[in-house]
Amino acid sequence: MVGAGFLGMEVASACAARGIPVTVVDADRPLERVLGGYLSAAITARASASDIRFVQAAGFATLTGDPVNGVLLPDGTELTADLVVTCAGEVPCTDWLAGTGLADRLGVGVDHACATAVPGVFAAGDVTYLRSDGTRPDRRTPFWSNAVAQGRTAAASALGLPPSGPSQDDYFWTEVAGLAVKIVGRLPLIGEPAMVQGSVADGRALLSWNHADGTATAVAYGLRKPVAALRGLAATSSPPSP
Ligand SMILES: Cc1cc2nc3c(=O)[nH]c(=O)nc-3n(C[C@H](O)[C@H](O)[C@H](O)COP(=O)(O)OP(=O)(O)OC[C@H]3O[C@@H](n4cnc5c(N)ncnc54)[C@H](O)[C@@H]3O)c2cc1C
Repeated sequence: MVGAGFLGMEVASACAARGIPVTVVDADRPLERVLGGYLSAAITARASASDIRFVQAAGFATLTGDPVNGVLLPDGTELTADLVVTCAGEVPCTDWLAGTGLADRLGVGVDHACATAVPGVFAAGDVTYLRSDGTRPDRRTPFWSNAVAQGRTAAASALGLPPSGPSQDDYFWTEVAGLAVKIVGRLPLIGEPAMVQGSVADGRALLSWNHADGTATAVAYGLRKPVAALRGLAATSSPPSP
């Protein structure tokens, strides 16, 4: 597996669950870029205990063989495999928009109303990125719930109606080594969580990270927790009542 992001970790977990030996190669620590060091360490430990092997390369891996039968790492190490899967990042498909002024290298830039740079044209979903407003950088959120929220907003905007809710929805989920993780709120998660209920080591915990704007990011780690409850927790950085 080349790439230790969400998709790479999910495919590796599926292999391990079927008893297929799997090695995950990445230049970064698993999921660290999006989830931060705390959850990266916890999830990596769990995945390692499920016989998923990790190799952190000093740089990008290169595919070897024709047909492909392995990868070459920058230090000269060559790993061979019956099957090589790459989950090394997705790129919005915008070739078909060439010449329209709608897309650049990040995708189709939109604002909070899902309006593009071209008047009267609106866009939603993975192909988009939220344009910088001066207070934060350009931002892509290629998740299912976000595509739904943006779809609603884009439709309302096209009809000249006010949006029925926010155009961004920071909820997503994943499953690694049999552990379901649900997250509501901004990423990445820097440092230690402000609140931990339960035990990460035992694979059942509710965690939250506070942000300067008074919101939080809430994480149900191996814990059954309705998304509405996580949304409530993420709406405020104050600790929940016991
Ligand atoms: C393997 C995988 C696992 C995922 N798991 C999760 C998850 O657990 N949680 C989560 O929140 N998100 C997950 N995602 C991301 C989620 O699937 C996307 O965020 C979501 O599907 C985006 O919706 P969309 O409508 O923008 O794009 P898509 O679902 O990609 O739909 C775009 C559609 O447009 C069509 N299309 C493209 N170009 C053209 C054209 N020129 N003309 C006509 N049709 C065109 C495509 O064929 C496609 O059917 C996952 C993605 C993948 C690939």
